[in-house]
Parts: sequence; C-alpha cells; structure tokens
Amino acid sequence: MHDSEFLEQVEKAYQLRSKSPIRAPGIPIGVAMVNLGLDKLGQVKKLGVVAEAKACLTDAIQATTGCTVGNKYLIIHDNIGRYALTVYDRTDGRGVRVYVDLKKIDAKKTPELHKFFLRKRAPEVRTDMDARAASAKLVTEEFMACGRNIFSWQWVRVKNLEKEEILPVKVCPGCGESFTSAERDSQYCIVCAKEFDYYMSEQ
Ligand SMILES: [Zn+2]
Repeated sequence: MHDSEFLEQVEKAYQLRSKSPIRAPGIPIGVAMVNLGLDKLGQVKKLGVVAEAKACLTDAIQATTGCTVGNKYLIIHDNIGRYALTVYDRTDGRGVRVYVDLKKIDAKKTPELHKFFLRKRAPEVRTDMDARAASAKLVTEEFMACGRNIFSWQWVRVKNLEKEEILPVKVCPGCGESFTSAERDSQYCIVCAKEFDYYMSEQ
C-alpha cells in the first residue's frame, strides 16, 4: 500500500490537478482502485477503462494508465455516479470492476472516510478551505490505513466494444469553422443555428 510506486502514481495524478489547492483523498483511493483492478485483470494487449464517476477518479485513471478521454481509452459513465471503475481488455471486453464497498468501511474506526463516501462530512468542509484540507488529510490517512481492503471487485464483460464511428465534418456557413456532424441535416453548427451556446461575445 505504501510502496514507492504507488506513491509516485499518486503524485503524478496530483500533478494533473496542480490548480487545485487541496490534496483530494479521491486521488490515492482512485489509484489504489486502478492497481487492484490491474492486479486481478493481469496483462492485456489493449487496456481500456470505464469510470462510473468523474472528478478524482478520472484523474487517477489517466495518470496511472495513460487511458485518457482524449485517446478514448477512458470512457466516463458518470451518470451512474458510483465510485467504481472497470479495467478491461479492449480486444474482447473481459474486465475487472472495482468498487468502494461500504460494508467494508468501519464507521467507528474510520469515521471521516465513512462520511466522505456518504457525503456527510461537516458543512464547513464545503465552505472553509482549512476545514476542507484538514478533512482531506484525515480521509487520506484513514484510507491509507485500510488500503484496498475497502474495495470489492468482480469479473465483468464490457459491452458495445465497437469503435466509435468517425463522424463526417461540415463547414458551417455562419462561422466558417468545421464541425463534426452526426445525423445533422442543417449546414450550420448548433451555435450558429442558435440551438446551443455556452458563451456570449464580448468586446
Ligand atoms: Zn457556425
């Protein structure tokens, strides 16, 4: 649990989050989950990962496996919202799903860790940076004492392995930019078509 390779991986994941002032407990937890999954899965030709939540978990996965959103080897199904991930072989879908097993977290021995997963930490953890940092430290310490003992895992077969199709590109007559268009009749991008926007033009 405390081996140097693990700690290196944790640091690497934190580096992805260098803009964040808090050393989030989800990072060592996520890295440990990946390592457990890979230990059980064994060597595979083409590794893929599915994350069932975003935030720390995905940074931990990207730092430890090189599977990223960009190379599409990391798929995020955060609509599920469970603190869980699946590492699998992209050639046949055989995989190991690792999840946080609440039954294995002792609310008496590791109270802050227990509250962390139930989102029941003190309210000031949300508003006060010092309280947040102190809680993060405590959760991490409690987790490090337990390590992977708080996880469970199962064999799974990941479905729908076929490659994402390469979408055709159109050039929008409005903005002149090219955009990928799946099943879109309009020649205009959705911003110029006023169907979606996330910014306003400013002088
Ligand atoms: Zn446009």
